[in-house]
Amino acid sequence: MSDDAHIVPEGTDPSGPLPAGDFASWVAEIRGAIRGDNPADVACDGCTACCTSSQFVHIAPDETATLARIPADLLFPAPRMPRGHVLLGYDDRGHCPMLRDRACSIYDDRPRTCRTYDCRVFAAAGLSAVADDKPDIDRRARLWEFSYATDADRARHDAVRTAATALREHPDLLPDDAARATTTQLAVLAVLVHDALIPASTAPTAAAIAAELTRHRPTPLWQRPLR
Ligand code: SF4
Repeated sequence: MSDDAHIVPEGTDPSGPLPAGDFASWVAEIRGAIRGDNPADVACDGCTACCTSSQFVHIAPDETATLARIPADLLFPAPRMPRGHVLLGYDDRGHCPMLRDRACSIYDDRPRTCRTYDCRVFAAAGLSAVADDKPDIDRRARLWEFSYATDADRARHDAVRTAATALREHPDLLPDDAARATTTQLAVLAVLVHDALIPASTAPTAAAIAAELTRHRPTPLWQRPLR
């Protein structure tokens, strides 16, 4: 999400493809981010789409440095989550209130949700953020282009797309608590479970998807009413 290092003048959009990096490396990185092992390393280059798209940002009770930087009246209890979990809302323009002068004013202490958000997941899964009513994120995500070191890496990307399509078209494949998953969450799940679908022609089963979710121990993203 937004950093204050590279500010692009308002209204300026990068044109042409943006290098999303090596696909296999990205998969390893995003899986680490989902587990909480590392932040997502996204070349935002001044893009603030995810900070200006009417998103609720989840903050967990252990994020004490973040909570200390945000006025209490901007936070409210996160629905369906344990006590102490809160959401940071947005203003009447859909902007995060911590975004100032087109940069995150608490960047060093930004929420974990922001540290791990990576719009390349839409490009990876072949899904559109428009389905979540996030057209600005969709515009940015469509610019990403992955590179592939091997044919096996291309097959891996095909498998992620196959998983995403299967999860979107067959919600019965999802665990019960993922039934209300947003498109973002479906894209993340596709990245997590795609190993079970290599080669990409393999039909997914609910058991295979459940096994992959267990193997990768993801944060239960579908429990979060955000993104
Ligand atoms: S706290 Fe707000 S401004 Fe900062 S990165 Fe997150 S969404 Fe963007």
